[in-house]
Amino acid sequence: MTQMTSDLHDLTVAQLATLLRERKISALETAQHFLTRAEAHTGFGAFLDVQPEITLAQARAADTRLAAGNAGPLAGVPLAHKDIFVTRDFATTAGSRMLKGYHSPFDATVVARLGQAGVVTLGKLNCDEFAMGSANENSAYGPVKNPWDLSCTPGGSSGGSAAAVAARLTPAATGTDTGGSIRQPASFCGVTGIKPTYGRASRYGMVAFASSLDQAGPLARSAEDCALLLSAMCGPDPDRDSTSLDVPTEDFTRSLNADLAGLRIGIPAEFFGDGLAPDVRAAVDAALREFEQLGARLVPISLPRTELSIPVYYIIAPAEASSNLSRFDGVKFGFRADQYTDLNDMYQQTRDQGFGNEVKRRIMIGTYVLSHGYYDAYYLQAQKIRRMIADDFQQAFQLCDVIAGPVAPTVAWKLGGHSDPLADYLADIFTLPASLAGLPGMSLPVGFGAGKMPVGLQLIGNYLSEARLLNVAHRFQQATDWHTAKPQGI
Ligand code: GLN
Repeated sequence: MTQMTSDLHDLTVAQLATLLRERKISALETAQHFLTRAEAHTGFGAFLDVQPEITLAQARAADTRLAAGNAGPLAGVPLAHKDIFVTRDFATTAGSRMLKGYHSPFDATVVARLGQAGVVTLGKLNCDEFAMGSANENSAYGPVKNPWDLSCTPGGSSGGSAAAVAARLTPAATGTDTGGSIRQPASFCGVTGIKPTYGRASRYGMVAFASSLDQAGPLARSAEDCALLLSAMCGPDPDRDSTSLDVPTEDFTRSLNADLAGLRIGIPAEFFGDGLAPDVRAAVDAALREFEQLGARLVPISLPRTELSIPVYYIIAPAEASSNLSRFDGVKFGFRADQYTDLNDMYQQTRDQGFGNEVKRRIMIGTYVLSHGYYDAYYLQAQKIRRMIADDFQQAFQLCDVIAGPVAPTVAWKLGGHSDPLADYLADIFTLPASLAGLPGMSLPVGFGAGKMPVGLQLIGNYLSEARLLNVAHRFQQATDWHTAKPQGI
């Protein structure tokens, strides 16, 4: 149908959507192209489930709608889902042995919405078990490799999503972010990702980790693509997620090109301390200078409780996880141990064999901080400080329109490079504050650091300011080409 087929994987979502709508390429050939790529590049460990027949059937349906002129805005655009979203047509494991072979009877709301917009699902992507991790090494199905250096982690927990986009195995992917799991892997793999305001996207059908923090968002190669995808993903879902916000669906592309003249970018002192690696700092500083060129003004601000976000998050998230994961008992769904003596033993054997070490660690921490006598000392204290962290952001937003800083203190580390879970926890320091406050945040590629590994810039906005964040990122990407860089051999 077209001479462009060999380059299809280099096209963005926006470009693919246009070519599909103009019927210059077909959804079927596009899907075939990406399925072939996924098959040829299994070495990254990104995909956990592919069902070519289902993908091709979806593509044919998209072509029919495109021909009839009643197709959705993303008709025929291929996309893969983090394996934390339940899907009817693909297995859902949440990266856990506990859900091996599990098939959901329904689609998550985000999956359904993207389906209505016309995307063609390529499959399910590897992630840390129940989205707990920062390196994708906690998956029961093996680690994911970073396409920029196969000996490095892609970040986590949406590591499969970020790696698949970076390796151009899919033009875009969904991810979830509880404490940084969209922004940090996006940063480590040199792609663009956004976590919207808590409540923007429905959590219905997202396997729950920490319900007051979990939020869905897209990973893609540009802010423009993220805006297109986010527009399809968000919107109220009152019957199915009581925490979904009652704000109408928005077109997040509407102000992509708005001028940045006069934009006040807050620079939190606490994000630029001793813990920040010099190579990451250099790339972030260069990006900030570029924003000044674009007319923005840098404003010093303070987020004084940044450090506290680590203990606060690692109390609240495990507390919620310990409650959410109680459903995996060998009775309702998923895995059940083969051998047991009685009901209690069945629970114990099932949970012992079904959960990995990090998940068990968090269930124990969470149960501890919620238990009688410790609840007040830990959980309640953490909740109070969480509120203060949110208040600090509101103080800062009196002085600035958006906040910018690093996503992570270093570039991607070596697989197996952190032997102590605490090292992973500490590396979350710059993403946790926005998560605890429920604010939107994004990561965009702004250069390379040690080992020629990608560096991401984090942008944090006030509640419901996604369109502004995407505008700021888009203008940067119009002026620079970091986001177009490709890993070698891709
Ligand atoms: N790294 C954090 C954790 O392990 C964040 C994970 C996430 O956002 N899902 O909990």
